[in-house]
Amino acid sequence: MANGDAVGLLIANATLPEGARANVAVSGGAILAVGGDEVLELVGPSTRVIDADGGAVLPGVNDGHLHFIASAMAKFGYLNVGASVASNWRHVETLLADAAPGADGWIRAHGWDEVVLGPGGEEVVRGLRPDAPVVVFDQTGHQLLANQTAMAAAGVGQSPAVPSGGVIGRTALGEPNGLFVDAGMELITAALPPVPRQALRTAALKFQRLLHAQGITSLTEPGLGPGGKALIGGACTTDALELLGDLAAGGELTLRISALLLFAGTGGVSTEAVRAGLASGLQHLYTDRGIDPQLLRIAGVKVFADGTPRSGTAWMSEPYGRECNHGSLVVAGSTDAERVSELHEIVRLIHEAGLQAGVHATGDAATESAVDAIIAAQRDGRIGRHYIIHGAFRSNASLGRLARHEVGYSTNPAIRAAAGDLMKRLLGEERYARHQPLQSALRAGVKLNIASDSPVTDTDWRRTIAAAVTRDTVHALGRPDDPGRLTSAQALLAMTALPAWQDHAEDAKGSLAPGMAADLCVLDGPWPSSEAIDELAERKVAWTIARGGVVHEPGWVTASRRPA
Ligand SMILES: [Zn+2]
Repeated sequence: MANGDAVGLLIANATLPEGARANVAVSGGAILAVGGDEVLELVGPSTRVIDADGGAVLPGVNDGHLHFIASAMAKFGYLNVGASVASNWRHVETLLADAAPGADGWIRAHGWDEVVLGPGGEEVVRGLRPDAPVVVFDQTGHQLLANQTAMAAAGVGQSPAVPSGGVIGRTALGEPNGLFVDAGMELITAALPPVPRQALRTAALKFQRLLHAQGITSLTEPGLGPGGKALIGGACTTDALELLGDLAAGGELTLRISALLLFAGTGGVSTEAVRAGLASGLQHLYTDRGIDPQLLRIAGVKVFADGTPRSGTAWMSEPYGRECNHGSLVVAGSTDAERVSELHEIVRLIHEAGLQAGVHATGDAATESAVDAIIAAQRDGRIGRHYIIHGAFRSNASLGRLARHEVGYSTNPAIRAAAGDLMKRLLGEERYARHQPLQSALRAGVKLNIASDSPVTDTDWRRTIAAAVTRDTVHALGRPDDPGRLTSAQALLAMTALPAWQDHAEDAKGSLAPGMAADLCVLDGPWPSSEAIDELAERKVAWTIARGGVVHEPGWVTASRRPA
């Protein structure tokens, strides 16, 4: 075996997820060996030995859909009006009334949750704070509330032209009431001053530390670029892309990030916008700077095919929801046929540019249409590893089509857990039973990954895994015979090896084998079985290793290093 001195780090006395005892030797950013006592012989004079004390060693967690910048700002930049601090609209009102405006005079808040607060937010926010423009983004990133001052600052008059793919709320008199949905949000966000670079940088570095403390070493940032101003919190801009490049070039980035470019907001994307975006060369931003693509890369382009069932903007084959209609695609076009052909052309352009299309689709008709577009784009015989984000499927036959054409599927069990009861009311029992067919997708051979969609849900991946295994919602326990549920081992794969496929990196990271990247997460106890998945909530992440270096360690280790 290799010279022991080359082993920089050795994790001793760990257990593999399947239960076997194991030691893991790390050398130069990669796993050198995984095995029994023979691995301990690799310890040299300069090896740092970590005693896992029987805890599970896992591949570093890879969240395949985590809005890094938006979450960083929501957590460390904006006023938080999320469910953890505001359980009714009066709370939100008080928080906003007491808030100090930022340096640019705006009050930015994030996180109102329609499921928790109920309707009526526009009545609360519209008349608040005549002294300052106020914008309050919701938890899903698909709606915002603005006060009168913000609407005036943005030049929103009594009867604004609503962009294609957008919805705005109106008073009984027909005037804008302060609620802006999907592409409608751009009416306000276009007027928002950019978030100062220093604020962005501070929030990003704090958030990176938090993610490492949770055992996360890789993620997909699904949407930064010219269209990002309209997305969750207005900070997902080209400026944020550049900041990530600076952090990587300066050696401060330790998370591996695959970014999707966003050329339009959450609605109204057009062929022209995508063509112009690709022509700008933004996709070469990091390679032009010589940044290691295994650390930071632009993977592809995010496309919003439709909106959300909650907002009534999901496109479904059968009527649903409050308005009891089908919704529609939110891409440019004035008829379903026009929008479908626009989506095909958009996906084709992305495919031809050698990039990956991540297509947001929450209705079954939108999903089907997105899969059609991907299959059509791949007629040149090349698999682009394009994927459906969220997704809804009419039947298992739709899943078979994804598998045959190697179309990925990235979805969010913790959203199902949080919003499942509402979804059941919107969709009806029968359709809801097919919502997130995780096990069926794996059985069909689909490249599935499960992700947080933070800030929509928390970045704590233990909750995502538990939700995929239990299929519980807030008000209902999952059924033991639910055909959608995953085993705990499958759920772990869906947050490690399977999202590595999405990153085109399954041969480089996401599993515990010699030669793979030394991205590791060590828990303070063994990996739980499916039956005991509730124990996962009590497991703590003891150590996180990223690219062979320790990026998180237990508090007692940190404390012992401080001078007395
Ligand atoms: Zn998202």
